[in-house]
Amino acid sequence: MDCIFCKIINGELPSDALYQDQEIMAFRDINPMAPVHILIIPKEHIISLANLKDEQTVVIGEMVKLANELARREGISERGYRLVISSGIEGGQVIPHLHMHLLGGRVLSSKLY
Ligand code: AMP
Ligand code: ZN
Repeated sequence: MDCIFCKIINGELPSDALYQDQEIMAFRDINPMAPVHILIIPKEHIISLANLKDEQTVVIGEMVKLANELARREGISERGYRLVISSGIEGGQVIPHLHMHLLGGRVLSSKLY
């Protein structure tokens, strides 16, 4: 599979990994946009939100649960943080493997577009 995130999952590419289980994985973004910038991904190669089947939505809950736990561990839970999932070209998605950004550690713009 020619997918950067699948290669990180199977160990072909290195990552600054923070967590993994059977379903999901978290690692630090290689080009952080904030002091805390973590990516949380399903291990299954789901291309984007638009490709998410109804029976796969449970994994999003697991990703949010992990994001909340990592925010606590990184010490930004009280100050605040943002979760972002971009979908498709106009949504700004660059890597076609579903991923959630956990951003925090600075004041984030209130402008979303
Ligand atoms: P998106 O624009 O939502 O598709 O986000 C893709 C993110 O993946 C960007 O923030 C990149 O900096 C990040 N990224 C790309 N390659 C790697 C990598 N090998 N390890 C960690 N993060 C990466
Ligand atoms: Zn993939």
